[in-house]
Amino acid sequence: HCKGNYIRNYAFYTRQMSQEIEKEQRIVNSMKSALENHEFVVFYQPKYGLSDNQIAGAEALVRWKHPERGMISPGEFIPVFERNGFITKLDYYVWEQTCIQLRKWMDEGKNPLPISVNLSRVSLYNKDIVNVICNLVDSYRIPRRLFQVELTESAYNTNPKAVQDMMQRLREEGFYILMDDFGSGYSSLNVLKDIVVDVLKMDMKFFAGDDREGRGENIMAAVIRMAKWLNMPVVAEGVERIEQVEFLRSIGCEYVQGYYFAKPMPVEEYEKLQFDRPHAERKKETERLVDID
Ligand code: C2E
Ligand code: MG
Ligand code: MG
Ligand code: MG
Repeated sequence: HCKGNYIRNYAFYTRQMSQEIEKEQRIVNSMKSALENHEFVVFYQPKYGLSDNQIAGAEALVRWKHPERGMISPGEFIPVFERNGFITKLDYYVWEQTCIQLRKWMDEGKNPLPISVNLSRVSLYNKDIVNVICNLVDSYRIPRRLFQVELTESAYNTNPKAVQDMMQRLREEGFYILMDDFGSGYSSLNVLKDIVVDVLKMDMKFFAGDDREGRGENIMAAVIRMAKWLNMPVVAEGVERIEQVEFLRSIGCEYVQGYYFAKPMPVEEYEKLQFDRPHAERKKETERLVDID
């Protein structure tokens, strides 16, 4: 009986595994042509300031518009690309698209807000990455404060000394560094001692699950406090509900990003949010959005 089960389970798992491998292989097979055919599209998710209820900038988030499979989310293909190294090419593509976009707005006489891009920890293996970023941004004549870099918390684990060195060089070059997903898992508070970043992106996992004692809320309040002592503004990411907005406002969180305000959107939409409507109207709208008292 037991043995039968074992064999059945074994058959089940191997079938599942080979399906996984096939899926990954399909992704790998189509990734190179995808880059050439511009199937990767950059979406923008706005960030809002809680003190003035204004858009403060946006994060560039990549999407894959696959001709057969439709829209694929980064959660599916980025881990694959990180395993086979293709992420380096994709990240560069996203940064360049971002630069092209910023350049276009500037040429149109607009005054674009900063855009942050994600940098995979795999890209850190490239010793030349600081030069690569500087050359790219300079070739499009983008002021460096407009091009910000998000590096996920877990990236600081792998080789703290190298990461520290790279972050410092990027900052010396005039780029803002955001520590992404802070509090999501891997690193300890100690990284904040050695690695100087400009902005902390606080993960909303602290809100998750059953928390009648409000322990998550107390931790978030402590994170905001600590960030103030370290002179870092905080962006709360993944904000979905008005109660969260109110709580974040009450503990002095400066910036928010999340579905409650806006989902990642195509550039045409973000452009409208950023430039089209008169300032006063935009302000009123965001005030309604955050339900200010
Ligand atoms: P991330 O950088 O932490 O980006 C935030 C993710 O949370 C995005 O998922 C965003 O769509 C999602 N999000 C935003 N607001 C909410 C919310 O209110 N609720 C929930 N549940 N989710 C929200 P997305 O776009 O699927 O990207 C996932 C991750 O993939 C990103 O996490 C980032 O680590 C990575 N990624 C995306 N684009 C790039 C890229 O161009 N390069 C690299 N290296 N990684 C990227
Ligand atoms: Mg990010
Ligand atoms: Mg994040
Ligand atoms: Mg995240």
